[in-house]
Amino acid sequence: MVKCVALIVAAGRGTRFSGLLSQQYQIPKQYREIGGKMVLRRCLTTFVAHPKIDAVRVVIHKDDRELYNLAALNLDILPPVIGGNSRQESVYLGLESLKDLNPDVVLIHDGARPLIDFGTINRVVSAVDENTGSIPGISVVESIKRVDEDGYIIQNIDRNNLVTAQTPQGFPYRKLLEAHEKLRNSEILYTDDSAIALECGIRVKVVSGNESNIKITSSSDLAKASSSFSTQSEIRTGYGFDAHRFEDGKNFVTLGGVEIPHSKGLLGHSDADVALHALTDAILGAISAGDIGLHFPCSDPKWKGASSDIFLRHAANILYERDGVINNVDLTIVCESPKITPHRYNIIKRISEILSISEDRISVKATTTEGMGYEGRKEGISSTAIVTVKLPQR
Ligand code: MG
Repeated sequence: MVKCVALIVAAGRGTRFSGLLSQQYQIPKQYREIGGKMVLRRCLTTFVAHPKIDAVRVVIHKDDRELYNLAALNLDILPPVIGGNSRQESVYLGLESLKDLNPDVVLIHDGARPLIDFGTINRVVSAVDENTGSIPGISVVESIKRVDEDGYIIQNIDRNNLVTAQTPQGFPYRKLLEAHEKLRNSEILYTDDSAIALECGIRVKVVSGNESNIKITSSSDLAKASSSFSTQSEIRTGYGFDAHRFEDGKNFVTLGGVEIPHSKGLLGHSDADVALHALTDAILGAISAGDIGLHFPCSDPKWKGASSDIFLRHAANILYERDGVINNVDLTIVCESPKITPHRYNIIKRISEILSISEDRISVKATTTEGMGYEGRKEGISSTAIVTVKLPQR
């Protein structure tokens, strides 16, 4: 039985999010990157990894499918649902989509709060029961004033007992769904789910939130969140090299995960993809995790003819499990033939898919050796790769 589902609301268009970059790229804030990882992906990986969360679903905007696919690549989550015209409608559509799963508890989280932590999730989930919801709150430390239309103070407000509401907000699923159904066509704009719950008589307990769990609504929020990553992470570089010999009897080579027609193939235990092998070793090198032969010994028949994306994904997963991110990849393929340039974009695209990083972080270059050496004599192909990664500082 599914007990606790996290519903991440990421259908917004970020109308409050202005700034030069967002105007240039028009990328909604939840798909912008902080510390080399998409805002939404940071939310997703935290919820997926949390032991009390049984399933995760995202509510997205209909135009964001491609961005979403990149943010959610290789994560074990439910298919997304398309949101509505308001946050409230999007949450309602998300809740409705969970009817078959019928979880006991649902957590509603803003996709633009990427710094959500395990502790906050724990406190919220622990405080929810069949009649009670729970939200993380932060005590107000500044003095609060009510002002009139001209900006003059008309009232001092006692800040004692005041909190600001964060997400995730947790509720008994069926009660929250009923509350949303009831208020669906209300004239009043409810800015969060605890307001809807309260309106329908559900008690909501406030637990301590986390000051770091900010909602990214402006360019400066994005910069603030990014700087917290750059000061907390260490940069590492890894280098990889590989070479494989041509063999007769095949009519293609596999380079960078892409099959390229050629008069010969490459000889190797796996698919002999020199480019992905060099890249795999570069990632392993950056995190001091041995080399490809250590993880996938040639002596093991299991890897005979294996597709090398398995090796690359494995190395990247070791990095990602340590909360690392790939900053950039620079790959060079050395051969007289086949010509690499016509296939460059396909290789970049394939590596982007395997590593779940954006294409502009991947460089693929090709060169010859002017007829010198084994590459020049067309005996084989070699490849080198450099990778820069960021790891959380220990
Ligand atoms: Mg190799």
